[in-house]
Amino acid sequence: MKVLKFGGSSVANAENIQKVAAIVMSNSEQQVVVVSALGGVTDALIKAGTLAEQTDETYKDVLKELEKKHLDTARALLPVTHQSSCLSMIKQQFNELEEICNSVFYLKELSLRTRDRIISFGELLSSKIITAFLQSKHVDVEWLDSRKLIKTNSSFGFAAVNFETTNQLIITTIQALDKNIFLAPGFISSDNNNNTTTLGRGGSDYTAAIYASSLNAASLEIWTDVSGMMTADPRWVPNAKPIERISYQEAMELSHFGAKVVYPPTIQPVRQKNIPTWVKNTFAPNDAGTVIDSITQHDGDIVTGISSINAIAVLSLEGSGMIGIPGFSKRLFEALASANINVVLITQSSSEHSICVAVNTSDAIKAKEVVDSTFEVEIAQAKVEPLKVETEHSVIALVGDKMKSHPGISGRMFDALGRNGINVRAIAQGSSERNISAVIAHADIKKAVNVLHEAFFENVYKQLNIFILGVGNVGGKLLGQVLQQQAFLQEHLNLQVRVTGIANSRKMLFADNGHDIDLKQWKEELSEQGEPMQLSKFVETIIQKNFRNSVLVDVTANEDVAKVYEQLLSKAVSVVACNKIAASASYTHYSELKSLAKEYNALFLFETNVGAGLPVIGTLNDLRRSGDVVTKIQAVLSGTLNFVFNNYDATRPFAEVVKQAQDEGYTEPDPRLDLGGTDVMRKILILAREAGEQLEMEDITNNGFLPEECFKGSVDDFYKAMLKHEDHFKKLYKAAASENCKLKFVAEFINSPEGKTANVGLKHIPADSDFYHLYGKDNIVLFYTQRYPEQPLVVKGAGAGADVTASGVFADIIRVARV
Ligand code: ADP
Ligand code: ASP
Ligand code: MG
Repeated sequence: MKVLKFGGSSVANAENIQKVAAIVMSNSEQQVVVVSALGGVTDALIKAGTLAEQTDETYKDVLKELEKKHLDTARALLPVTHQSSCLSMIKQQFNELEEICNSVFYLKELSLRTRDRIISFGELLSSKIITAFLQSKHVDVEWLDSRKLIKTNSSFGFAAVNFETTNQLIITTIQALDKNIFLAPGFISSDNNNNTTTLGRGGSDYTAAIYASSLNAASLEIWTDVSGMMTADPRWVPNAKPIERISYQEAMELSHFGAKVVYPPTIQPVRQKNIPTWVKNTFAPNDAGTVIDSITQHDGDIVTGISSINAIAVLSLEGSGMIGIPGFSKRLFEALASANINVVLITQSSSEHSICVAVNTSDAIKAKEVVDSTFEVEIAQAKVEPLKVETEHSVIALVGDKMKSHPGISGRMFDALGRNGINVRAIAQGSSERNISAVIAHADIKKAVNVLHEAFFENVYKQLNIFILGVGNVGGKLLGQVLQQQAFLQEHLNLQVRVTGIANSRKMLFADNGHDIDLKQWKEELSEQGEPMQLSKFVETIIQKNFRNSVLVDVTANEDVAKVYEQLLSKAVSVVACNKIAASASYTHYSELKSLAKEYNALFLFETNVGAGLPVIGTLNDLRRSGDVVTKIQAVLSGTLNFVFNNYDATRPFAEVVKQAQDEGYTEPDPRLDLGGTDVMRKILILAREAGEQLEMEDITNNGFLPEECFKGSVDDFYKAMLKHEDHFKKLYKAAASENCKLKFVAEFINSPEGKTANVGLKHIPADSDFYHLYGKDNIVLFYTQRYPEQPLVVKGAGAGADVTASGVFADIIRVARV
């Protein structure tokens, strides 16, 4: 004997019921088949009852729609010759149901007893329709009335089973009937007075377990819409995977903590009889599914699964008067129990003056009433504070039999949550050490489940969610590189780089659940589906999406964008900036950003601020981390200026060469930032700071070479002014050429016992200098340190250009994942 249970989605419509029939008919063993109501029907019946109670006549429309759904399903399943008795059964059931709802309407009252009566129609109808369908296929099947076989007390809505009577009734009924297949409605039962009762929402699983245990079945199969009990709720965690094998206790903990795939009371009856229980997928019957049995030690992951419960309220009972006085917690729990309030989780602080319990939000008001009245005297004496209630919380739980033999699991759990800025409100570890649970803000729950799933099941695989601001030249190249590298990163670094948001100055676009931004046609998607760009909204969306490992990538040169880093870092969102404004703003701001990043376990990275993709800042950081001290930095840091002075030989106007640099994309949007030295000043400032010095822009001497007039007016005026001063540029060139020197714009930082200084300016570079052979838009940085006192450590190479800058940004993004 086997027991099979098919849930609401498995029997949602005629097409699915055909699948169910195929599974049932492929079995040769004797079987009891338990079915739920057609998907969504129980909810609709509750709605009809509630509307009637509120004297809202639209309950009739709800019933009409339900009747049509059942009639359509029966018509689609049954050959015309078999339809009439089934259709009249449905109509008759709906007449009865309507009469009950009419009474509710007139009485304006829906008792739990009547509510059970109303919702029992869901399973009654589905089981009768499916029985008729199997009979029409010449299957010898007998319908069982679960109301007559499963006897309960009169706790309507959530009745407790009387196993002794039930077992007997089931055994004698089945024995008396010589059939191979029995079909029974799930969920419904009756009390001693034969009033219909129900076993709690999701209760059909329990019905099936009751049949299985009474009949000592060889196995129980729970057929649903997923391929087993999974490592986490698959609707939240796309990477969740089916658990092959799991113990009864683990399954119980997982379902108790919210894994709705199995209704929690289901496990107890099958566990007692040691009946192996399978969770299988009606829509993929060949998938292995999960087996739940008495296994104690299984191979594989230490953590078996993660689940969560929403709508949790945290109740805290605090007060100095509680210390050392026994009985406080007993009184608290007795008060809650007397009000039928189920406690999900308990923690008591070691100082003993606070107890914290988590309950369902629907119980919070009642809990406050009973607890405050229990401690009325102590509250009046100010020994205990009135109960504090905080709603909008969730509980997340890690479950696994093996956790107790592996230390450090909770450390890893809280580290992973902490690194993602998720605050833990309370922690509890089950005495069996089979679960560790934590209360967190509801807003963080989806992220938390994913973070923990990643930490415990995907230690091989990490997801980065990147939001790119400024998909122009560099940003566009970056997207191209991400597209090209995605598969490689996933395969070799176990890193999934997801572009979750992009924006330019006009539009912004976000990946939605299930819809990723197509990196092959992001331009079209952005312009067609993007919404108008609003920086504040872009930032809010990043925060609201609350993805794990989120990174803002700033590839703009915009001051407003630089101002949002603070807000994001303090939400544990890392920032990768190509934009130099933040790192070269006041020292206070720079160091604030760094300490925020540290505080919230995020990274603030800006390697491309100096030398584009060259490892300049990285090298400097490595030197310092290994204990070296920088004594001097000399560098040519402007790709633009290099390009300009490498190409200018006084035969064509200086302005023309600058224009060429701008056209080829080496300059800042306003080329005066390059030509006037500001850009180089920012870079040497950033290097000095990364070398450990508290320098400001004002501390840097700028020996500029542009005539004053060049700084006035617009960029157009700038080009005109340069043309006008062509003689000045010619003179500069010739003065250098006459000494066989080249012109280079050099930046210098000196850390000497006399002080720390920095300067930038145009220099004559002789042929024996490291700077002489520097072509195109190359950059060079010489680090003189205590370990490199005479021969500096040299970093040299392409220091500008969209491609190399994008690859530097990309490297920073990957650095975020590797911490
Ligand atoms: P049925 O109607 O078959 O009883 P349910 O909707 O009650 O199905 O339960 C199946 C659903 O449970 C799945 O579709 C899935 O969304 C959800 N679920 C939550 N946690 C888990 C988990 N750990 N493993 C599998 N499914 C889960
Ligand atoms: N139909 C009931 C419910 O929706 C029972 C079940 O499907 O398990 O709660
Ligand atoms: Mg269910």
